[in-house]
Order: sequence, then structure tokens, then C-alpha cells
Amino acid sequence: MCCALSLADRGARVTLFERNAPGRGASWAAAGMLAPAFEAAGEPGVHPALFDLCLAGAEVWKSFSSRLTALTGRALDYGDAGALACAITQEQGERIMALASACEARGVPHICLEPEDARRREPSLSAELAGALELPTDQQIDNWGVVEALGAALADAEVRVLSGLSVTAIDGEPGNMHLDAAPDDVFDAVVWTVGESARLPVHYEGEITYLVPEGAIVPVKGQLFSLAPRKAGPRRVLRFGPGYVAPKASRIIVGSTSEWNVDDTHAELNVIEALRREAAQICPILAEGQITRIWAGVRPGTRDHGPILGASSIPGVYQATGHYRNGILLAPVTGELMAELVLEGRTGGFLEKFGMSRFDGAGENASSPSLASIR
Ligand SMILES: Cc1cc2nc3c(=O)[nH]c(=O)nc-3n(C[C@H](O)[C@H](O)[C@H](O)COP(=O)(O)OP(=O)(O)OC[C@H]3O[C@@H](n4cnc5c(N)ncnc54)[C@H](O)[C@@H]3O)c2cc1C
Repeated sequence: MCCALSLADRGARVTLFERNAPGRGASWAAAGMLAPAFEAAGEPGVHPALFDLCLAGAEVWKSFSSRLTALTGRALDYGDAGALACAITQEQGERIMALASACEARGVPHICLEPEDARRREPSLSAELAGALELPTDQQIDNWGVVEALGAALADAEVRVLSGLSVTAIDGEPGNMHLDAAPDDVFDAVVWTVGESARLPVHYEGEITYLVPEGAIVPVKGQLFSLAPRKAGPRRVLRFGPGYVAPKASRIIVGSTSEWNVDDTHAELNVIEALRREAAQICPILAEGQITRIWAGVRPGTRDHGPILGASSIPGVYQATGHYRNGILLAPVTGELMAELVLEGRTGGFLEKFGMSRFDGAGENASSPSLASIR
């Protein structure tokens, strides 16, 4: 949706094809954290420029959120509360120490907090808290609201949205491209933004064609639940190990698992209960109240956690996928980069760093064992 909007902003006539309804894939399932600082301490093997791309993504959100808010009149929960990385267990403590060092090394604002200071800022935190790290640059947004606002922005920009239409075949050359979903239309270029489905083939000129090498995109399932918001509940994003709490105006989201190579969207009760127990250790009020929703989504993972942005192996077809756990944060900057590439032929910078060529011969690392975190 952001790619379509950025292209239309620059004067292109754009059609968006969506097999279901726009924005109801991973973008709907997400927690909406906009968390560049959290990427400062990426696991071993993470793309060296991912942190910089995430910072750029957070910067674009500042004006992009205002644009969406002005258009729809909705605040979208974009705020400046920052996030708190919290620790009770030794493992969580080690994690926030590593994050603090990484932030220090990269010049990212962060404040190490004693438990009582953290609880003063966030009274919902447990009395057992051992310490916390404040990350003022990490924000959040209501991703459901964003998707709805993007729908309004696309209508405003006169993007033609065709829902319920799968694209499975592409033919032709740049300037004269055809899609099976709209046989009578001719397109100059195609931007392939199918999320985790990018690992599946497409027919090009009748041949089964993979746009990314086998193993470059890995489905990574995440399970979450939500509770109704309440007065004494958390007011900002809380991180604890791989878990997090993202309180929105309409719901408190708690997540998530990272199940590599799993591509179903079925949420399991026992997993949700375990997530809730873990979250309640950090924020005891989360043990109370009825769960309002449980769900799961599939992240388009890559082994270096960075997206794939740029030209594909088919002339005239570009791709923007593999945003893994940062696709909400990176959506507006991805739109900008792709529109510059497609319409102005701009390359270099992030487009060069996040091109597909880095995955040549990816097959042998398909399961990404050094980065797998399966709970
Ligand atoms: C549990 C979870 C938590 C997350 N939390 C965060 C977070 O806090 N912050 C953050 O920044 N990111 C988060 N993410 C990551 C983020 O949601 C994704 O990286 C991002 O949504 C990917 O966007 P996308 O447009 O590439 O994919 P999607 O949102 O999945 O969209 C792809 C769309 O393409 C459509 N499609 C697929 N194939 C075809 C076809 N052949 N023809 C037509 N349409 C097709 C699909 O129906 C889908 O709607 C989270 C993800 C999950 C699953």
C-alpha cells in the first residue's frame, strides 16, 4: 500500500492487486512497534545496514503519520512515550545490558533505569523488576488504523484497488507488461509486494519462475493476543526478551513467538497462555481481565533480517519484501525507495545494500539456525 501511494504521489497511475483485502496480511497481524533502537543490538548475522534503514524508517514516519492523521482525522496512537526494555530474569538482564552497549556504540539515546525509576515512569511494572532500559526513539502506531488510513490515502491519490484478485502470471517486457488478473490492461512496470508469499513462484512467459532464490524468504509465525485497555494498564511499549506489550487506545497487544519455517496463522491456546504468564511477570495487571482476541501472522523473514528491495530477475518487475519484524516501521521508507527506483531509476544507497544479490546461493541457509528463536 505504501509503494502504491508513493508511486501515485509521484504522478504514476497505479493499480493495486490484492488477493484478499489490502493490508490484512502480516501488516494486520503486527503489533505496530516502530522500534529502530531495538535493532541496534541485532543478533549475529543481521544485515550491517539494517539499523540505519530502521532509523531512516522511523524518520519518515514522523511526517507520514501526520499525513495519515490529517487525512482521516484519526490519531493512530503515534506518540512519543518511547519504549522500556525490562528485565526480571538474568537472561532478560543480559539482553538489556547488550542492548545498552549497542545503543552506546551507535549513539542511540537510551537511559539505564533502576527499578524504582522505571516504575515511576511506568507504574504497571512489577515490584520484582530488576532493571530497565528506556529507549526514547522507539515508538508505536496502531497498525489497524494505519491500514485503514492507507486505504483512504490510496483512494485520495486515485489508486485503483482491485481486491480479491490473485496475480499468478506476468508476461511482457518493461513498458508492455501484462498480468493474468487484468488481461486487458498494459503496465509499464510491476512491483511485487506479496509479503511472505514472495517465496512462492510466479509464471513468467509461461515458465514457473522464482523471484527470490530458494530459502531467501522464510515464513516466521508469530502468535499474539489482546486485552481490553484499562486505566492502570501499561502506557508505553514494554519489551522483555523476545516478548512485548504494545498498548494501543483500543487494545493492549501482547506478543509474540518467532517460529521460523512455520507458515500457518492458527493461534494455539497453550502458547497464548504461556505468553500471558511471561508478560504478567513484568506487568502483573496483564494476568487480569478477559483476552479479547488471539491471532497469529506470518512475517516475511530473511536470514539477515533485512528486506529485499530492488529489481527482480524478471525485467520490469521490482520487488519489496522480506521485511521480517520491521515491516510496519519500514513501510513508508520502502514506498519512497521503490518509487524512486521505478520512476526515476535511482539505485545506490539502501537499494544497493538491500538488493537481492546478497542471497545468491541462499538455499543452504534456508533454516537460518543462528537466528532461529523458536519458543
Ligand atoms: C506477529 C507479528 C508481529 C509483528 N510486529 C511488528 C511490529 O511491531 N513492527 C513492525 O514494524 N513490524 C512488525 N511485524 C512485521 C510486519 O507486519 C511485516 O514485516 C509487514 O507487515 C510485511 O508487509 P508486506 O506488505 O510485505 O506483507 P503483508 O502485510 O503480508 O502483505 C502482503 C499482501 O500480499 C497479498 N498477496 C500475496 N500474494 C498475492 C498474489 N499473488 N496476488 C495478490 N495479492 C497477493 C497478501 O494477501 C497480503 O495482503 C510483525 C509481523 C507479525 C506477523
